[in-house]
Amino acid sequence: MTAAVEKTNLLGMPKSKLEAFFESMGEKRFRATQVLQWIHQRGADDFDQMTNMSKALREKLKLVAEVRGPEVVYDETSKDGTRKWVMRMDSGNSVETVLIPDGERGTLCVSSQIGCSLDCTFCSTGKRGFNRNLTAAEIIGQVWVARKAFMPFEPNGDRPITNVVMMGMGEPLLNFDNVVDAMNLMMEDLAYGISKRRVTVSTSGVIPALDRLGEVSDVSLAISLHAPNDELRNQLVPLNKKYPIADLLAATRRYLSGLPDKRKATIEYTVIENMNDQPEHAHELAVVLRGLPCKINLIPFNPFPESDFRRPSMNATRRFQKILNEAGYITTIRTTRGDDIDAACGQLVGRVEDRTKRSQRYIPVQQMTP
Ligand code: SAH
Ligand code: SF4
Repeated sequence: MTAAVEKTNLLGMPKSKLEAFFESMGEKRFRATQVLQWIHQRGADDFDQMTNMSKALREKLKLVAEVRGPEVVYDETSKDGTRKWVMRMDSGNSVETVLIPDGERGTLCVSSQIGCSLDCTFCSTGKRGFNRNLTAAEIIGQVWVARKAFMPFEPNGDRPITNVVMMGMGEPLLNFDNVVDAMNLMMEDLAYGISKRRVTVSTSGVIPALDRLGEVSDVSLAISLHAPNDELRNQLVPLNKKYPIADLLAATRRYLSGLPDKRKATIEYTVIENMNDQPEHAHELAVVLRGLPCKINLIPFNPFPESDFRRPSMNATRRFQKILNEAGYITTIRTTRGDDIDAACGQLVGRVEDRTKRSQRYIPVQQMTP
């Protein structure tokens, strides 16, 4: 008996890699253009659908390649229109993807890792531990599944996904190459054609990877800051002990100044009652951010069972916002969306076969999915 040959999954290949793949098969590079459109614009996963290629080529492809997306195990729409998918990535692991419609705009929140190896104290993903990085196919596969859910599109109809934020489970900059490949597909005209300004990486501050990103990409940037000084940030984002605030903001400046256009970074600030929500924190933040082209997004903390933190009152959050606005910063408060289906920021948990043993410290046994 011959062993089954592992087929190459074409789903996660950006144009350059698909071209190289066809060349290695002795085929013309322009086949990549056709295949990209079939897979990403028309949602095809069967080579027989690709009718502008000869039958012989399709048969040849079937022997060595496949288009394999994640399996949807759960798909629910919140009463506010937010839609959440749970996608199985392998036998023991799944991740969550959320689509947030808002007028003309549809923002898809995409996961980059199964769990997260960092351990921010206010984040439920972190509490579940970490299993592995997602492949490029598993990352773009989330966009592929979400887009397919709206096919066929109405002619001249609204596009369901206009923006992508890498703000689901995981730290995207710790899965650098796969995240970059997937984001290139998001921006590729032959695939999803989303503008570079509307694809956003969110990071808790992995400085060397942020500098590398500046060399290969020009997507938009969100920095998860959450505190105006190192003492407080060390408690919330343990990575801060390695990459403190001043260095992180300097790296943010470098990234922005390397972009071909003028753009602002988004500073994310999860507001937690009696932790980082006091007026003096807002004043200190205004000083720390001075001179950085940025806008500030306040995210009222979303509670989850294993956390003792609390969401601040709307008054406290508005008072915080007002101080920053008066200091000259465009500051918005993120409205909580989809919390009736646990789809809000920081509530995404999926199913993680934890390799770090961290989850045992935090999650009661009966609550872990079998
Ligand atoms: N690892 C990346 C991206 C995923 S987290 C990062 O940290 O930036 C996406 C955003 O959700 C971050 O700004 C994070 O701080 C925020 N978040 C995490 N847990 C939250 C919670 N419980 N309530 C509100 N926001 C939360
Ligand atoms: Fe990881 Fe981001 Fe959650 Fe921190 S906030 S544990 S970096 S997913």
